[in-house]
Amino acid sequence: MPHLYCHDHPETLILETQVLEARPGKVLLVQSPFYPGGGGQPPDRGLLRWRHGEATVTGFDYDGGKLWHILSGSAEPSGTIEAVVDAGFRGTMRQLHTDTHILNALIYQAFDGALVTGVQMYEDGTARMDFDVPGADNDRIRALEAPINEIIARDVAVTFGYVPLEEAQAQHGLIRSRSVAPPPTPDGLIRIVEIVGLDRQACGGTHLTGTGGSPAIRILKVDNKGRHNRRVRIGLVGSAAAA
Ligand SMILES: [Zn+2]
Repeated sequence: MPHLYCHDHPETLILETQVLEARPGKVLLVQSPFYPGGGGQPPDRGLLRWRHGEATVTGFDYDGGKLWHILSGSAEPSGTIEAVVDAGFRGTMRQLHTDTHILNALIYQAFDGALVTGVQMYEDGTARMDFDVPGADNDRIRALEAPINEIIARDVAVTFGYVPLEEAQAQHGLIRSRSVAPPPTPDGLIRIVEIVGLDRQACGGTHLTGTGGSPAIRILKVDNKGRHNRRVRIGLVGSAAAA
């Protein structure tokens, strides 16, 4: 995964940049504010504007380490571009993504280092996480709702940094899941996201800068997925699913 602009600038949702290369319906930019998806977080939406046109960004394509923006239609933009990320969608994803880290941290602590086996965030303000917690009592998982909301209410700082891959692999618990952890950057570094005093883990998504940026959450459902796995569904209070 290349180093993404949105990792270091999660608040920048409108960026003026230049076309590096264009083909009909797809374009490579000098800098891109978009999150292309991964680790359970769906890709950003938004649009590109240029002197003689505008197009919706419908997806992303990695080709030789380059991030192509796939456009609606077959325009071939050139020159200066204004890239605009859909703020509402990104905002919901940052909230859900941060909240999944809190849930993950509390499960990890309460269930003896239990690992994540899958995660997916949704546009409707819900997310699901799967954990390998053999024999877990589902009521103990449901009871984590109050401690999660306490951490949200305390507005704990969320920070990030980079460590060499070998160091990340050597430190127990830093990589919670092969399916969630980001691949290293071209210079061999792993991005670490920290909820200060609570949790550190490898992650390549976009997060809040403090947990208080999220509304409270509800644990909507805990399902058994086989003997080992539990699927936990959370929803942001105020979303249709967890009004
Ligand atoms: Zn994350």
